Amino acid sequence: MIDFSLKDRTAIITGASRGIGKAIALAFADAGADIVCASRTVADLEQTAVEISGKGRSAMVVKTDTLIKEDIDNMVAAAVKKFGKVDILVNCGARNLPMPLMKMREDGWDKIIDSHLKGYFLCIQAAGQVMMQNKKGNIINIASMMAQVVNPYNGAYGTAKAATVQMTKIFASELSGYNIRCNAIAPGYVKTKMTEPLWSNPEIFKHFTNAIIPLKRFADPSEIAAAAVFLASDAASYITGTTIFVDGGVTISGINRAEFGASMPEHLRL
Ligand code: NAD
Repeated sequence: MIDFSLKDRTAIITGASRGIGKAIALAFADAGADIVCASRTVADLEQTAVEISGKGRSAMVVKTDTLIKEDIDNMVAAAVKKFGKVDILVNCGARNLPMPLMKMREDGWDKIIDSHLKGYFLCIQAAGQVMMQNKKGNIINIASMMAQVVNPYNGAYGTAKAATVQMTKIFASELSGYNIRCNAIAPGYVKTKMTEPLWSNPEIFKHFTNAIIPLKRFADPSEIAAAAVFLASDAASYITGTTIFVDGGVTISGINRAEFGASMPEHLRL
């Protein structure tokens, strides 16, 4: 039997208050893990913790801003104090500020690059120390298909996500001798607060689902969580330094089929 269980593992998940991070927290609890729910909004984290407890697993809430190193160190220390170990770290908490690079202010650039790249880096350093002592661990970075797809309105975000993919490989290499795996997941368009401007506008939603996403729908956050459970489990025991794209085919769509097809003679259209 292939083993997808996370029974009795301790997982720190940043951004666990909503969206993809919350879906990963709940899926990990379903798979048997205890969860350290980290993010900035305690009330939302407590709701996630209640749902985890309802699944029979332990949950701890730690208010954490991943832009603040002291918060990150406290998050890892609190996890070790309660559970005695950190088996899994999922770096998910981050923000976006859609903006062409030519219009982006310096402080906006800093916020995006810091929340994705520096925050993930500091969390891996802090949790990685504990994993190195235990000679065992698993790190998952939530990147994005924007690491590969060029979107001129998401310049800082895409740059940070591309760097996240490379940082994942470098940490995987550094930590491989300690039995620690490090991988990334690159989601496509997922129905969360972050993408609300896209799915809440019927015209934009129709364009995305008709012309941009080959599978013709946004992902549910649970579909990203499924890849995270796989990577965190022993079913992925030989996978490190890679990025799994869960994007409904956006990165393989090439020339937009619907828009290009409109210029083709009827008998050649797909
Ligand atoms: P979301 O806005 O619903 O949730 C973001 C989460 O990150 C929230 O819990 C928020 O509190 C937390 N967060 C933001 N800044 C933080 C900080 N400084 N410290 C701690 N927590 C912080 O968005 P989401 O769609 O669930 O995004 C989660 C991750 O997935 C992000 O890294 C995002 O870039 C990535 N992603 C999302 C999509 C998508 O389509 N939604 C696609 C690709 C990648």
